[in-house]
Amino acid sequence: MTQMIKSRIQHLLSICLNCLLPTRCDICGAPVDSAHTLCPKCFSELKFITKPYCPVCGRPFEFQLSKDLVCGNCMKKHPKYTAARAVVIYDDMSKKLLLPYKHGDRTDLVPLLTKLLYQAGEEFFPQSDIIVPVPLHQIRLMKRRYNQAALLAHALSKKTHLKYVPHSLCRTRMTQSQGHLSAKEREHNVTNAFIIKHPEQIKDKRVLLIDDVYTTGATVNACTKVLRHAGATAVFVLTFAKVVKDQSSSESI
Ligand SMILES: [Zn+2]
Ligand SMILES: [Zn+2]
Repeated sequence: MTQMIKSRIQHLLSICLNCLLPTRCDICGAPVDSAHTLCPKCFSELKFITKPYCPVCGRPFEFQLSKDLVCGNCMKKHPKYTAARAVVIYDDMSKKLLLPYKHGDRTDLVPLLTKLLYQAGEEFFPQSDIIVPVPLHQIRLMKRRYNQAALLAHALSKKTHLKYVPHSLCRTRMTQSQGHLSAKEREHNVTNAFIIKHPEQIKDKRVLLIDDVYTTGATVNACTKVLRHAGATAVFVLTFAKVVKDQSSSESI
């Protein structure tokens, strides 16, 4: 009986709270039932990456010819990392989440982004030992005040119970913004930009590397190179969005 009264009171309190502070869609602000979620319209407009996709880089396929078939890019040159997955395709709709998150102090989006990353990265968690964010250079970190990849990696480590290792992989060089660089220029831009400060935290570990956007793979490949050099036995890459087709040469991220 006491339990019944308690749950009735909680229900009434949540109705009152909803009237005072209605929960809103994280993109358009339309009223929704619970916090850190999207309205059905915004949710349906995000392009979620689902199977079939390249088993290596996670690039979506229109149809699947065979289970182990990799995409043309991975066939030409296998990425340095073990495998990569992303939640959504990077487009005008996913930008409505990512740009305010990355450049507009919308750190309140972390719970929603983490929830979606958790679903997309499901296959990687049992195969990983530690979670490592792609680092920002100190100067950029001071300007932005937070590392968007680190906030996601930290929240994800709490959900997965994987150890969060934020201070081992470091960015030593202030690389120029990659927004308008070609794939080749991006690769050159991040060459030798990363080092490992505490190799003992990486040695013999399977790493889950987190970033907000996968564009050409230049950044995560450069990170993988030093992680592998420090003794990581596998590097899985999980990002919120992935640029597909020829967007990489014209998009500003
Ligand atoms: Zn909405
Ligand atoms: Zn691929």
